[in-house]
Amino acid sequence: MDFEDSPQEAEFRAEAREWIARHAPFDLVKAFRSGLCARSDLVTGARDWQRKKFEAGWACLHWPKAYGGRDAAVMEKIIWDQEEAPVGALNELVLIGQGMCAPTLMHYANDAQKARHLPRIASGDEIWCQMFSEPSAGSDLAGLRTRAEPDGDDWILNGQKIWTSWAHEADFGIILTRSDPSVPKHRGLTMFYLDMRAPGVEVRPIRQANGDTVFNEVFLTDVRIPDAQRLGEVNQGWRVSLTTLMNERMSIGSGIPTGLPEILDYVTALEASGSGFSAGAAFDDKLADWACRANGLKYTSARLISALSQGREPGPEASIGKLVAGELMQDIAIETWDLLGGQVPHGDASLRARHSLVHSVLMRSPAVRIEGGSDEILRNIIGERVLGLPAEPRADKHLAFNAGPAKAAN
Ligand SMILES: Cc1cc2nc3c(=O)[nH]c(=O)nc-3n(C[C@H](O)[C@H](O)[C@H](O)COP(=O)(O)OP(=O)(O)OC[C@H]3O[C@@H](n4cnc5c(N)ncnc54)[C@H](O)[C@@H]3O)c2cc1C
Repeated sequence: MDFEDSPQEAEFRAEAREWIARHAPFDLVKAFRSGLCARSDLVTGARDWQRKKFEAGWACLHWPKAYGGRDAAVMEKIIWDQEEAPVGALNELVLIGQGMCAPTLMHYANDAQKARHLPRIASGDEIWCQMFSEPSAGSDLAGLRTRAEPDGDDWILNGQKIWTSWAHEADFGIILTRSDPSVPKHRGLTMFYLDMRAPGVEVRPIRQANGDTVFNEVFLTDVRIPDAQRLGEVNQGWRVSLTTLMNERMSIGSGIPTGLPEILDYVTALEASGSGFSAGAAFDDKLADWACRANGLKYTSARLISALSQGREPGPEASIGKLVAGELMQDIAIETWDLLGGQVPHGDASLRARHSLVHSVLMRSPAVRIEGGSDEILRNIIGERVLGLPAEPRADKHLAFNAGPAKAAN
């Protein structure tokens, strides 16, 4: 495998780097990551950044031109993402729309719907969310209960979703529903896209442990949705959701920051601060171990990139990358917190900013091990689909959904 850019890629990288250096709001992202500005300021900055990229032709590079992209090669999109990483926090708002909902629309929406929504998703004018998880359906997504019942040319939706990231900012969302409870759980699901301002949609933000609010509960009461907003065939929603989930794991897995550079920088700055702080040899051992794992991740990710650049579908590397990166990030955060005792350094503003950064990695790390498939689910996937181990027992696989003991109420 050749890790060097080709001359053409190097030229593209230089052009992208130069444009980002001239236009990206680095100070805003730094201030947010250091706890010095509010989430609402970052959201405003994120909207401006998306529009600026779109107008200059840097948004969603690998999408067709007709939808706001520039038909670029996958490698160019990857190079762009690498160069944009220092301000990656500006993409959180649009990640679900651009990375998960848009690929689903490209496969399943009609031409008019694609022409209407995709350019607006690319420019950040439309924010989209993904309503899959429910209070009793997370890892076992196919166990969801939100009902979709036909009514003339419409469907009526009733139920509840949870952990819906960015629903409080979203204009639209894709939603997986149960359209037929009398068949086995995977076979009675239908996917739609929904206007988040439709009557009967109520979004209730969830306050997180770090004080932030990124995800929500969404309650649906007699929400009317036109059949034209169905994505895929009736009762074939599971197949549609696989398109979304595959893109989700790839977007998460390819871009998880492990926190290693931030921790190295903080510990080095503390040691140089004259406070007498020393991390000690045991911590140095841990740093060496993390560096090895981080390099393993880098090269696993390179294999994924190489496969994509050759036009191949992402394989198990996506699950391995997310599993290892999530564990590594949390290990680093916990060990560093133990070492530093959680004490905020007095006086030096740059040390305090570094401390806030480490704190934000610590608070974020458990979520990475759950979102987009928990560690255990990823291990099941790797065990069954990569290593060919026997599948775990799935007693309700062939049972009608409404005949299962826990689902009898449906
Ligand atoms: C930051 C964040 C953002 C999210 N954003 C969204 C979003 O935008 N839209 C959305 O729809 N959802 C979202 N989610 C929800 C996420 O997809 C679910 O939390 C996840 O699928 C796990 O489901 P659960 O929380 O119901 O846990 P459960 O499925 O109840 O799992 C509980 C525990 O049991 C383990 N477990 C479950 N089944 C098995 C099994 N078969 N074998 C071994 N262990 C098992 C799990 O690994 C976990 O440790 C988000 C979650 C997070 C943390």
